[in-house]
Amino acid sequence: MMNKKVKDPNTDMLNDYGSILQNWALAHPRPMPWKGISDPYRIWLSEIILQQTRVEQGLPYYERFVAAYPTISDLAAAPLDDIYKLWEGLGYYSRARNMYAAAQSVLHEHHGVFPNQYKDIKALKGVGDYTAAAIASFAYNLPYAVLDGNVYRVLSRWFGLDTPIDSTKGKQVFSQLADELLDTAQPALHNQAMMDFGATWCTPKQPHCADCPFQSRCKAFQDDTMQNLPVKSKKMVKKERFFLYLVLKKDGQTFLKKRTAKDIWQNLWEFPCIEPDTLPTDLDTANEIIFDHFPNRKPLKTTQISKVFQQTLTHRWVSAVFVTADLGEIDEWVEGCSPAAWDGDLEGFAVPRIIEWYWKTP
Ligand code: SF4
Repeated sequence: MMNKKVKDPNTDMLNDYGSILQNWALAHPRPMPWKGISDPYRIWLSEIILQQTRVEQGLPYYERFVAAYPTISDLAAAPLDDIYKLWEGLGYYSRARNMYAAAQSVLHEHHGVFPNQYKDIKALKGVGDYTAAAIASFAYNLPYAVLDGNVYRVLSRWFGLDTPIDSTKGKQVFSQLADELLDTAQPALHNQAMMDFGATWCTPKQPHCADCPFQSRCKAFQDDTMQNLPVKSKKMVKKERFFLYLVLKKDGQTFLKKRTAKDIWQNLWEFPCIEPDTLPTDLDTANEIIFDHFPNRKPLKTTQISKVFQQTLTHRWVSAVFVTADLGEIDEWVEGCSPAAWDGDLEGFAVPRIIEWYWKTP
């Protein structure tokens, strides 16, 4: 993806976009703690946190991580469970897992020094083309153009491109255009301006077209097609999943189990869980479902069923009810579980948000 010097007749026109963009950035500063620094560890940390997370939500997490682990060696030396705990609430826990694996690679394969070549950065777990270009340009001023959702949107509108951005052809076309537009003398400034412009100005639903410096050059504005661009070929289908959680109580304790399967929330803790086809809304139906799943176990003395809690993830909705039961002496229900203080705050257990919501509901 190394940028090549552009020699076609459109060069001046493309340079024009770059200079307008940088003037726009100067007039619209957007300070963030990870901007204007060259520490690759902190830049990488911010980029991983901000994948699929809004800046406002990610900012306190970034600060907590930097405070707890000031260097990548500190992060690599921490127990993975502590990292999950600090990540709690951000979702997409595979990011935390990959981040940890990448920190281990830096420690063991790069002697604790963050790599400074694009290919080595991209080889780190959880780092794709976009993140590698961001780190390479921001930390080392290397000439790699970033191409994320914001940049796709801006480019598709500027040039009126309706090639689907999730197609192979679209990736090629947009990647080449992003490379041609890159200001190779100041890649960090250019990339940051591009990302900020997409995130705050040329936004998906209400772009600031009325006072946009690109009006006269923006094909989408001229054709009034801003709302149709960019184009995607695939529509995402969301699946719904139903979880029936067993909140087992005994002597002021309840029991949590780690999700170990390669599935959502891998390595997080939750109550023992059944995944029925539909969710029960009354205790009798819940008891039948529990019996159907565990016909050979001694019946539980269930006492209460919660309202339905829902959490929306990118590819699915999760709906859950929580059925409380007095465990008594029937310990077979808590095999593989760890006890947690019922009145505690789940200290030490990284849990999915839906569990936290239930736990904190009076
Ligand atoms: S004119 Fe509108 S659509 Fe075009 S770049 Fe500006 S904000 Fe985006």
